[in-house]
Amino acid sequence: MKRCLHVVGAGLAGLAAAWAATKAGHRVILHEAAGHAGGRCRSFADPKLDRVVDNGSHMVLEINRAVLGLAHQVGATLSPLPPRIDFMDLQDGQRWRVSPFRLPVGWREALAALVPDDGRTVFQVLGHAAGFRRFWHPLCLALLNTPPQIACATLFARVLRKIVLAGPKGLRGHLFPSGLSADLVEPILARLRQGGTEIRFHQRLIAICQHRLTFDQAIETLGVDDRVVLALPPWAVDDVLGTDHRFPTETIANIHFRLPLPVRLDAPLGLVGGQAQWLFVRDDVASVTISSAPSHVEAASLWAEIAPILACPGPLPAHRVIMERRATLRHDGATLARRPGPTTEIPGVFLAGDWLASPWPCTLESAVSSGLAAARLALGRDDLRFS
Ligand SMILES: Cc1cc2nc3c(=O)[nH]c(=O)nc-3n(C[C@H](O)[C@H](O)[C@H](O)COP(=O)(O)OP(=O)(O)OC[C@H]3O[C@@H](n4cnc5c(N)ncnc54)[C@H](O)[C@@H]3O)c2cc1C
Repeated sequence: MKRCLHVVGAGLAGLAAAWAATKAGHRVILHEAAGHAGGRCRSFADPKLDRVVDNGSHMVLEINRAVLGLAHQVGATLSPLPPRIDFMDLQDGQRWRVSPFRLPVGWREALAALVPDDGRTVFQVLGHAAGFRRFWHPLCLALLNTPPQIACATLFARVLRKIVLAGPKGLRGHLFPSGLSADLVEPILARLRQGGTEIRFHQRLIAICQHRLTFDQAIETLGVDDRVVLALPPWAVDDVLGTDHRFPTETIANIHFRLPLPVRLDAPLGLVGGQAQWLFVRDDVASVTISSAPSHVEAASLWAEIAPILACPGPLPAHRVIMERRATLRHDGATLARRPGPTTEIPGVFLAGDWLASPWPCTLESAVSSGLAAARLALGRDDLRFS
C-alpha cells in the first residue's frame, strides 16, 4: 500500500500541508473535527444579517509569500489594495495617508523600530516617539494583535524589515473580495479533491500513538510508512499528546453591520482615538475590527463611531458581534520564546499551526509556512514549494 499522509485539522496550516503533499502526488487523508474547513479563517451564512460574513476580516500582506504562492497555485481570488494605508482620527476627524514614501514618523524612531535592542517591548522602544499614537500603536495591534506595552519589539521589527525590504509595494495588502471560504478555502478543497485527497469532516482526534489515530467516530490504523501532521491548535495538541502548551492568547473582535444601502470604501480605513481600529466595507456590510479586544464590545457605540464616516445616519442596524477569544497567541517575548518546533516524541508525527516557532507572528503566513514545512519533513521532500 502507498504511503499515506494523514493531516489532522483543516485550518490553513492543515490545508497547506495537504495541498503540498497532494500536488506532489502523495496519498493524503485530511481529517477535521468540524463540519467545515478553514478553522479560524472561514465564512458563514448569518441569518440575522441575511449575508455571508467572515469570522474576521483577514488581510494578507504583499510580503506573505507563502500565502500568496498557495493562493496562486489553487486559483484563489485575492484583490490587491493600493500600497498605502488611510487613517482617520475619531477624536477630531483628521485624516492622513501612510505610504512607503510618506511615513508619519521621524527617521530616528523608524530606525529604533527596525533595529530594537533585544528583550524590549514595542512601547519601551516607541512609546515616547512622536508617531506612536498615529502609527506605531495601530500598526503594532494590527500586526501582532498584542498591546505595545507587552508586544515583543524584536518580532515587530522583523515584520517591519520585511515590509521595508519589499520596497514600494511593501505596504500593499490583499483581501478576499467574496469572503474567506469562497475565495480561499473552497478553491483549496476543490484542488485537494481533484488531486484525490480524501476529506473527512466530523472526525475529532482524541488519541494518537505510533500505530493508530483514534477519532471520536473511527479508528485509523497507520501503516509503517504512513506519516501524520497534526495541524491543530495548542490546546488540542496537549489533549492528544499530553504536552503542556498553555499559551496566553489575545481576542480579535469583529462587528458586522448590515447597511441600508451599499457603500463604497476602496480600502480598509485605520481608525485611532476610539474603540474601532479598522473599518472594512463589502457592499452593504460594514465590518469593524478590534485587535487585542476587551472581553465585551458595545455595538451601539461602535456604530456611533462609524456611521458618520459611512454617511449612514439612523438607528443601530442589524449587526453581528464575533469575539474570537483565542484568535492568536499573545506576542510577548516570554510566549514567543516557548513556541515549539514541528517534531514530536512520536516518530512520524509532526506539528503544524500558526503558533509554532516562526519568523512570523500568528497569521495566515505562519500557518501556511508551517503546513508546508511539516509536509516537507513528514515526506522527506525538501522540494515542496508554493512559489
Ligand atoms: C478574527 C481573526 C482575524 C484574523 N485576521 C488575520 C489577518 O488579517 N491576517 C492574517 O494573516 N491572519 C489573521 N488571523 C489569523 C489566522 O486566521 C490564523 O493564523 C490562521 O487561520 C491559523 O490557522 P491554523 O491552521 O494554524 O489554525 P486553525 O485555523 O485554528 O485550525 C485548526 C483546525 O483544527 C481543527 N481541530 C481542532 N481540534 C481538533 C481535533 N481534536 N481533531 C480534528 N480537528 C481538530 C479545528 O476545527 C480547525 O479547523 C486572524 C484570526 C482571527 C481569529
